Amino acid sequence: MSKKLVIVIPAYNEEPVIEKTTAILLSILYKLINDDKINAESKILYVDDGSKDNTWSMIEKLHEQDGHVVGAKLAHNAGHQNALIAGVEIARDSDYIVSIDADLQDDPNAIIEMVNQANNGKNVVFGIRNNRDSDTWFKKTTAGAFYKVMNLLGVESIPNHADFRLIDQRVIQAFLSYPEREMFLRGIFPQIGFQQGKVFYARAEREAGETKYPLRKMLSFAMDGITSFSIVPIKMIRNSGLIIAFISFLFMIWAVVGRLFGHTTLGWPSIIISIWLFGGLQLVALGVIGEYIGRIFMEVKHRPRYVLDVTNYSQEGEDV
Ligand code: UDP
Ligand code: MG
Repeated sequence: MSKKLVIVIPAYNEEPVIEKTTAILLSILYKLINDDKINAESKILYVDDGSKDNTWSMIEKLHEQDGHVVGAKLAHNAGHQNALIAGVEIARDSDYIVSIDADLQDDPNAIIEMVNQANNGKNVVFGIRNNRDSDTWFKKTTAGAFYKVMNLLGVESIPNHADFRLIDQRVIQAFLSYPEREMFLRGIFPQIGFQQGKVFYARAEREAGETKYPLRKMLSFAMDGITSFSIVPIKMIRNSGLIIAFISFLFMIWAVVGRLFGHTTLGWPSIIISIWLFGGLQLVALGVIGEYIGRIFMEVKHRPRYVLDVTNYSQEGEDV
């Protein structure tokens, strides 16, 4: 018996691309259905992340044209990661969920290979891009540095894998049991385990429209990734504090000895340097600790990750 696949697509102001994306994804969906790799219940699920343009009315229109296209509309802009989580929660009854961006930068043909691997027993299949030619120099460098830092900090992540992946029912269930509010999906899926597969593809330019990830969002994404998976920064602060304390202890001995033999008057340079040095270090330390406390604060509030406005996705046996 073939499986139900739901392709989840977070969409924030994606009016310029959504028709083309739908046409391409539908052709892949039909191909898979005709080859009996997945069943006819399979769907394309758009999660409209509080778009300000006509994304939602287009989703509704596309739904009327073809019942395989369904949508869910979030009440406000909850962010890419939360929109993805919303999609997984809504489509939790499906056998496979593939997540893909709305802009067609990830090669939709790779979905066929993902489904093949899943039908052969893989529980997670990661889409991995084998080039970054379409990215700017800045994005390449910062992304490279980010994955290096993540690895140094002991966070398992898969280089060049964005949020293009297939997960099966077991992984969906495991994923839904993660209680934390702020999730860094690229760290969680490798951690969940089970049988993992990989599909390589070439990443293209954004089909139309602009990136929804300005520098500000990239930075907060990187920060989330690090602080939600690692307490190494806190340990680094503790260690550098210890080293600096030790050095200033040696310095103190040197100053006292020098004073005893009367050949030095330690003037303002040493004072000013230590004031600045320690002032700086303390601020860094406070900043990092503040970051973790901020996370604790966000978690204890137990706010919903997103608020659902409407959806025309129906669980098995329900009426639309
Ligand atoms: N996105 C979203 N909410 C946001 C920002 C982005 O749902 O607040 C979606 C966006 O519509 C796209 C995906 O997340 O489908 C990735 O965004 P984008 O392609 O702009 O990021 P980039 O590829 O430039 O990193
Ligand atoms: Mg993109």
